[in-house]
Amino acid sequence: MRVLVYGSGQLAQMMYLAGCPLGIDVQAVDVNSDTIVHPVNKTLLESNLELAIESADALTVEFEHVPERLLEQAAKTSKLMPSIEAILVGADRVREKRLLDRLSVPNCLYQIVSDIEQLDECVAKLGDKLIIKASRDGYDGYGQWRMTDIAQLDELKKALSALDLNAVPLVVEKMLQFDRELSLIGVRGKKGEIKIYPLTENLHHQGQLHVSVAPALDISPALQSEAENIFTTLAEGMEYIGVLAVEMFQCGNTLLVNELAPRVHNSGHWTLSGSDTSQFENHLRAVAGLPLGDTVAKQPSAMVNIIGCCSFSRDLLSIPGCHLHWYGKSVRDKRKMGHINVTADSYISLGEKLEQLAQYLPLEYFPKLLKEAARLK
Ligand code: ATP
Ligand code: MG
Ligand code: MG
Repeated sequence: MRVLVYGSGQLAQMMYLAGCPLGIDVQAVDVNSDTIVHPVNKTLLESNLELAIESADALTVEFEHVPERLLEQAAKTSKLMPSIEAILVGADRVREKRLLDRLSVPNCLYQIVSDIEQLDECVAKLGDKLIIKASRDGYDGYGQWRMTDIAQLDELKKALSALDLNAVPLVVEKMLQFDRELSLIGVRGKKGEIKIYPLTENLHHQGQLHVSVAPALDISPALQSEAENIFTTLAEGMEYIGVLAVEMFQCGNTLLVNELAPRVHNSGHWTLSGSDTSQFENHLRAVAGLPLGDTVAKQPSAMVNIIGCCSFSRDLLSIPGCHLHWYGKSVRDKRKMGHINVTADSYISLGEKLEQLAQYLPLEYFPKLLKEAARLK
């Protein structure tokens, strides 16, 4: 059994590692050179993409911004899971908003802007605190602009007028005052069966995920089931196959969907330690047509992203329940280098372990860590 993953970053690497015990050979498509590479050491495995597609049993993606010509080629084979339509929903915020509205899934108030002068209308309809998002190619907060005061409007118009908004419109959202950010990771198999992980709480810093805690604290059964209903509506609405991540904002007792990721997701990395079956294994099981694994959380878990640095002591592994996942990339500012998973018997103990962890890490890179540790305790 062979699965080709479009994209050759850490998500493909972690799918590869999950595939080994299952006897599933995961190979990565380098979308810049149209060649097949090993997902861990990136050595060339095959230079003929067409041949590789032919001999693969399933095709999938590790990121949504795969060039469309490659997605179209993959979609012709009927081996691509999730479907090209689902991947494009994740890649294009206009399609995403259309899907959410069509399926009546609550999301942030928004306007689509294809002419910069429409920004005045946005202010009239959404208020003067706005998040402006390029509809394509954004991630980790890139391709976003914030307006927190009407005095910034003219300057923003000037900056945005350089963009071709006819080709790539903007999605302008009302800036929400949410209580916290949650995500729901779930998986749908080929026969339509669905398994869902517990809600995860996510702490961001400068638009980037820093820390996740799962199961999120203080989730009522009603809120978990509302999130699961949203997941099921979306997964069934798209006839989705594989792991799907749904990012949400919690406002009191309601959930608003922020965005979808048609793939395994950073906020699901805790499942490697904290759940019976990891998101990577479940994604492979789904696209391979195998029974899905249990998504129960065995213990309270946290995931800490290592961003933009590599100089810390590996002695952090002396903390019980602490595991390092290193991606083997060269260091760059704001680049996700690896992550640390921590599990514990209780949230209090999890908080204590995060505090210990902080002693091993250069704290300028981990501003959210101690705050989260204190909250859990
Ligand atoms: P990702 O790396 O998750 O794909 P992204 O660049 O696609 O990120 P979003 O997830 O849409 O962007 O936004 C990044 C962050 O900005 C969110 O996690 C949230 O903290 C904040 N944000 C986004 N939209 C809103 C909104 N309407 N109101 C308030 N905050 C928002
Ligand atoms: Mg995104
Ligand atoms: Mg996001």
